[in-house]
Amino acid sequence: MKRFKEKMNRFLKKVTNFLEMSLFPADMKCAFCDRDVPDFENNPFCDSCEKEITFNNGNRCLICGEPIDNEAVVCNFCQKHGRSFKKAICPFVYSGKVRTSVLAFKDSNKRYLAKVFAKFIYDAIKSEGIEFNRLTYIPLTVKKKKKRGFNQAELLAKELGNLMKVSPENMFIKTKDVKAQKFSSFQERHDNMIGMYILADVKFKNSDNILIIDDIITTGATVDYCSMLCAKKVANVYIAAIARNKLKEKVDS
Ligand SMILES: [Zn+2]
Ligand SMILES: [Zn+2]
Repeated sequence: MKRFKEKMNRFLKKVTNFLEMSLFPADMKCAFCDRDVPDFENNPFCDSCEKEITFNNGNRCLICGEPIDNEAVVCNFCQKHGRSFKKAICPFVYSGKVRTSVLAFKDSNKRYLAKVFAKFIYDAIKSEGIEFNRLTYIPLTVKKKKKRGFNQAELLAKELGNLMKVSPENMFIKTKDVKAQKFSSFQERHDNMIGMYILADVKFKNSDNILIIDDIITTGATVDYCSMLCAKKVANVYIAAIARNKLKEKVDS
């Protein structure tokens, strides 16, 4: 019996090692390319990739995190329309190597990047002093999740949950996929969302502080809509994503 147990333990250890290796390469390679990096724990990027990374640590909207060129505290969009969430945290600007890596994460199945991105989200949440007791993520439709094999926002939430000792919950359901709505107005985008996302069967407390995870924030319409679904039932809703883009188009017409 003892020998069997030992054998079983050895076998399980091998399986765990194998899984860890395949999900997250343990060698000291840059998170975004094949180059070696000296101190992966503290900086997972090589010099070359780091040049193509923009951290979202300059002046940015106090609410939605959009980078702002002038001294304004809140962006035009948030000033005009307000948001259902209190604050959005995005450690990177969606451009250069971050953009190509987020796309690779989603579309080329580079799941190990969830761990890298989650660590940066974790650091940003800590430095902004955001406190939450419940964690969730923006869902995909059942069809889309089946096609991709995973939901990238859910994976990020799991990795962040590991770091923060909070288990992610499924609070929203996406009922249908619609065409990209990049150039539509605020009202059109909002109307498009009605019925697209609905609340799952969740019990909220009015003392809850919710953190919703998404991969990137483009206009903020999706995270805003999902926040709106639960905002009145809880104390605060916060958002965290890998990256925030800087809006070129005027989308608040
Ligand atoms: Zn690199
Ligand atoms: Zn804003």
